[in-house]
Amino acid sequence: MIDLRSDTVTRPSEAMREAMARAEVGDDVYGEDPTVNRLETVVADMLGHEAGLFCPSGSMTNMLGIAAQVPRGWEVLAESRAHILRAEGGGHAALAGVTSRTWVSPDGTLRADDALALVSRPRGYHQVGTAVVSVENTHNFGGGRIADIEELRRLRSATSEAGVAIHVDGARLPNASAATRISLAEYGGLADSVSVCLSKGLGAPVGSVLVGSSAVIAQARTLRKRYGGGMRQAGILAAAGLYALEHNLERLSDDNAHAALIARAVATAVPGVVDPATVETNIVFLELAGLGIDAEDLVTRLAADGVAASALSEDSVRLVTHLDVSRADAETAAEAVVDSLQDLAD
Ligand SMILES: *Cc1c(COP(=O)(O)O)cnc(C)c1O
Repeated sequence: MIDLRSDTVTRPSEAMREAMARAEVGDDVYGEDPTVNRLETVVADMLGHEAGLFCPSGSMTNMLGIAAQVPRGWEVLAESRAHILRAEGGGHAALAGVTSRTWVSPDGTLRADDALALVSRPRGYHQVGTAVVSVENTHNFGGGRIADIEELRRLRSATSEAGVAIHVDGARLPNASAATRISLAEYGGLADSVSVCLSKGLGAPVGSVLVGSSAVIAQARTLRKRYGGGMRQAGILAAAGLYALEHNLERLSDDNAHAALIARAVATAVPGVVDPATVETNIVFLELAGLGIDAEDLVTRLAADGVAASALSEDSVRLVTHLDVSRADAETAAEAVVDSLQDLAD
């Protein structure tokens, strides 16, 4: 099976497992796990921030990064299909008391003005104040789109003036950096906190890192324990993250290239399903409304050809390339998509 449902399906390689087995460990709740401490430092340095915090999931790093900067009852602003609001079980509201409002970006790109138009400074005792603008880069349900650096700069300068912080849900920020060649530090410098996943294209089995100022990370560390995310000899997991950063970061441009390859092949054979110009990283959305094909039918048909994909709505299917998908796999998958679309459209 060529599994394109998500880049979370990667499995640790033998070499990664060896690095995990060899990891030096201690009790991380006491701050004594040298491998966790090293991972936190490495990721913070990479993003140009003071401190880092290793967590079991990106949902947790997002929640802690936002909760550390949004007082209960205040709000976070995000795009309408943001992972923090659509795919984290409502945790920001349910657990952290964070309210939210959204702007809408139909194509998944970022326009600073859309966010800035919503920023609210509290007046009187009834009005909700904006504490954080959250930017998802790349935007998962927006088709893996990259937030434009100029828009990020404009957003950063305007929110700083307003006293509003920026959190970046950078689950796939390394894919953006691989595509734009803009360094992670440059992206990091435009945010107060950034969450990066090690368990997506980087291929670690578990884990995400939150980075920010020492004060934000100290607060997030307190919240992590409160939410039950304090881990003990977690160096075994952090070692996988360090291995991933050392060996699997550079190759993310391959994943981006494989997604582009699929998009071009499909667009050529079946016009109107995907615009290759919008496939900037490792995510391909197939829009099926024009063909009258049901997303579940396409997923079923693809499975018969050995390709797993995700139906994300009635008429859209997502394909995600990753570490365990070779160029040949991408070519095979593209053929299967073309065959399936042509079959179902008949
Ligand atoms: C995967 C992902 C996360 C984190 O997901 P977890 O499964 O909780 O690790 C956060 N944001 C985006 C955009 C993601 O794609």
